[in-house]
Amino acid sequence: MSISRRDFNKLLVSGVAGSAFGLFGMTGTSFAAGGAKKHVVVVGGGFGGAATAKYLRKLDPSLAVTLIEPKAAYVTCPFSNWVLGGLKTMKDITHTYAALHAKHGVNVIADRVVAVDPAKGTVKLSGGKTIGYDRLVVSPGIDFKFDAIPGYSQKIAESKIPHAWQAGPQTLLLQRQLHAMKNGGTVVICPPDNPFRCPPGPYERASLVAHYLKANKPKSKIIILDAKEKFSKQGLFTKGWERLYPGMIEWRSATGGGKVLKLDADKMTLETDLGAVKGDVINIIPAQKAGKIAFDAGLTNEKGWCPINPSSFESTIHKGIHIVGDACVAGAMPKSGFAASSQGKVAAAAIVNLLRGQEPAPPSLVNTCYSLIGPKYGVSVAGVYQLSATGIVDIPGSGGLTPADASDDQLEQEALFAEGWYTNICKDIWG
Ligand SMILES: Cc1cc2nc3c(=O)[nH]c(=O)nc-3n(C[C@H](O)[C@H](O)[C@H](O)COP(=O)(O)OP(=O)(O)OC[C@H]3O[C@@H](n4cnc5c(N)ncnc54)[C@H](O)[C@@H]3O)c2cc1C
Repeated sequence: MSISRRDFNKLLVSGVAGSAFGLFGMTGTSFAAGGAKKHVVVVGGGFGGAATAKYLRKLDPSLAVTLIEPKAAYVTCPFSNWVLGGLKTMKDITHTYAALHAKHGVNVIADRVVAVDPAKGTVKLSGGKTIGYDRLVVSPGIDFKFDAIPGYSQKIAESKIPHAWQAGPQTLLLQRQLHAMKNGGTVVICPPDNPFRCPPGPYERASLVAHYLKANKPKSKIIILDAKEKFSKQGLFTKGWERLYPGMIEWRSATGGGKVLKLDADKMTLETDLGAVKGDVINIIPAQKAGKIAFDAGLTNEKGWCPINPSSFESTIHKGIHIVGDACVAGAMPKSGFAASSQGKVAAAAIVNLLRGQEPAPPSLVNTCYSLIGPKYGVSVAGVYQLSATGIVDIPGSGGLTPADASDDQLEQEALFAEGWYTNICKDIWG
């Protein structure tokens, strides 16, 4: 399928990309009419899990679907950088599960899954209950490799040096630190090596923290100590920083003094190959792996992610269990909320087919990532994906990047499209 970037963005903004790309190659008949209800359990109510739960019920209302998620409300990482920039509030990015239950008939249980028994087809909850499933979907997101940087730990992250890579209390901690910092202070952001959740996210963070500092503490600066040699949308970010925040943001590549060797949390100092860097606020984004339950359930490979069959997102390790979102190995797709929801819809369609004794239809998968560099300065990267012998690959010529010579009007439109994208995807998943 070939689709222009312009048409693609229109679909995304109008929120119809899922159906427009023919994700649901299946008939609408209900397989369980007259029979016992099949039960699908979904672990995790984020972008991947909540989308899967809702679309399972939409695709086959005869299914019983149970979503298990410990949090009463979900705070999105998308737009949490906007909160740091003072452009959104925490309330704006918080979504409850009320509509999933009331409007879509998903049974929502506020608990944590602590064990999975693939042989028996059951999950155990921390409250002690055991629940049986016909098919299980696991979308637990990420966990952190806190020991990747000597001197860093979960305890330090929770109290002093937040990662803010799971939105909620961590976002608020980082925000409080930015607000308390003196004018003329230094913010140090340390992004990890690939693969990690939201490749452009650290650089959007630097942009929107710069937006806040420019307005409130203009003598301050931001140093990015990167574990990589290059990063997503690098040319667009660099150009935006020069235009909006000249002299404020300094990016250091891994071999240019960016690789963090050690943290001294007491002295608020990071050791690098080219000497020590002191921060008034330090934001370490640690290296990542699949969420804990994926390990406990034996769903991960040697790299700490979950291998799947890309036509159904079924685990290649345990039959009957599907993994979507950041935790799975999804080839060329980045670890993003849009990708997770797109995978959730494909998994939902595949599960309905499999429960009917049919093969999953070949999926088309989509992603777009908007990043805000300033309130009227947005950029994006978009992709459409298909299956090949090697897994999920980009469809050549599909999607694309904001042009390097985009006009001010185009950049302002991208910022507007970002808002539209957020409103639509949240409504699509939790509405
Ligand atoms: C700063 C930032 C900005 C971002 N911006 C964008 C953006 O603009 N666009 C975009 O597309 N993506 C963006 N992302 C990426 C996006 O947030 C993730 O890719 C997305 O959240 C992945 O969805 P998921 O379902 O895999 O995991 P999550 O959304 O993290 O959901 C996992 C859920 O599982 C629950 N859970 C975990 N373990 C268990 C268990 N044992 N039992 C029950 N529940 C459990 C958790 O409580 C959580 O609610 C951004 C990320 C960051 C950090």
